[in-house]
Amino acid sequence: MSFQHVCVLGATGSIGVSTLDVIARHPDRMAVYALSGHSRMELLAQQARDSAARVVLVPDDAARSRFLAAWQGGVLPEIRVGAQALADTAADPHVTTVMAAIIGAAGLPSALAAARAGKRLLLANKEALVAAGRIFMQAVQEGGAQLLPIDSEHSAIYQCLAGELPAEPGQPVVGLRRLLVTASGGPFRSRNLSELEAVTPEQACAHPNWSMGRKISVDSATMLNKGLEVIEAHWLFSVPVDQIDVVVHPQSVIHSMVEYIDGSVMAQLGQPDMRTAIAYGLGFPERLYSGLGLLDLATMGRLDFEQPDFLRFPCLKLAYDALRSSQAACVTLNAANEIAVDRFLERQIGYTQIPAVIEHCLDRLNGRASQALDALDGVLELDSETRSLALDYCRLSARI
Ligand code: NAD
Ligand code: MG
Repeated sequence: MSFQHVCVLGATGSIGVSTLDVIARHPDRMAVYALSGHSRMELLAQQARDSAARVVLVPDDAARSRFLAAWQGGVLPEIRVGAQALADTAADPHVTTVMAAIIGAAGLPSALAAARAGKRLLLANKEALVAAGRIFMQAVQEGGAQLLPIDSEHSAIYQCLAGELPAEPGQPVVGLRRLLVTASGGPFRSRNLSELEAVTPEQACAHPNWSMGRKISVDSATMLNKGLEVIEAHWLFSVPVDQIDVVVHPQSVIHSMVEYIDGSVMAQLGQPDMRTAIAYGLGFPERLYSGLGLLDLATMGRLDFEQPDFLRFPCLKLAYDALRSSQAACVTLNAANEIAVDRFLERQIGYTQIPAVIEHCLDRLNGRASQALDALDGVLELDSETRSLALDYCRLSARI
């Protein structure tokens, strides 16, 4: 593996911070070329100084000023401004490797640009695949990109498929019976259903095992996250929806499994720390030290498994239905959820209204289900239409 020049999109987020931690452990193999941040300019300035980044990416001129105010000396990186700069830098010839870790569909254009430019692409941004699965996988193939999944479940599946993946991307895995995507069940797995209405953002973000950004933490509580991951697995591994099952595993030690037709089940285990999947992606095909200690199975004692409860987690069913329905339904599912979660975090709607917002948008935009989405413009248009619809619905049903 030759020396990697890494562009970290979403450097100031949870995945971004873990990525910089792993990169800093391997100065002989990789260096930061560019870092992007959206709101936390003080952190971005500190990260850029610590990693000697050559380029930083900020959303607008106000953020640029805040970055400069926070800069405390040293060689100032080149500052690039605006959303287009994200996509341009992801495709920059100086960059060998892109970590796509922006949250939500906002990360789609830059991840797609990296795919088209044939980069080594570490994909954390699952919303990109949910919103534009076919377009995205086609861009990977046509651009000659090397796509490495970072979501822990998909990194686990990728590892369990070692030696079985077809040489031609997009072809089905021979001998595969099903994928078993594990889910912790989040903080409300055994909470009384009648109590869910009063759940606060703080409670929803308090994940029992993982420390993550706020949006994905809420998605984990509703299990919409698992639904997005089923869609992500469908596109990444070319597996039909009926061969992708979710199993609840509260300890989050098994990160996912692959079952073959001979009855063998391969599992990948590890601590609930994203640095393992990130180190796997950065090092592939070699293994790199991630900073983690030993997995102490004896102290843990037991591993449990349950069926997912669709009544408790209606968002999971909505996601399966969207995948069975169409690409347009997946765009709507994702965009409606992003708005619903944002409004919930802002205390404008209640926790149990999140699936209601998604269902409303899916019903209203049902007529679009047959729309062929074969270009990014169509996806972004439907995404934005859904957001307006979801916002209107949230306004009408907002708490007084
Ligand atoms: P986060 O909220 O902690 O960080 C998000 C990053 O995106 C930040 O750097 C932020 O500045 C940037 N950002 C936000 N809005 C933006 C916009 N409109 N334009 C450009 N940049 C913007 O999120 P996270 O938890 O690190 O998750 C990042 C991605 O990784 C998500 O797609 C998530 O689903 C996926 N993921 C996260 C984890 C985890 O453990 N956190 C695990 C698996 C997958
Ligand atoms: Mg995951």
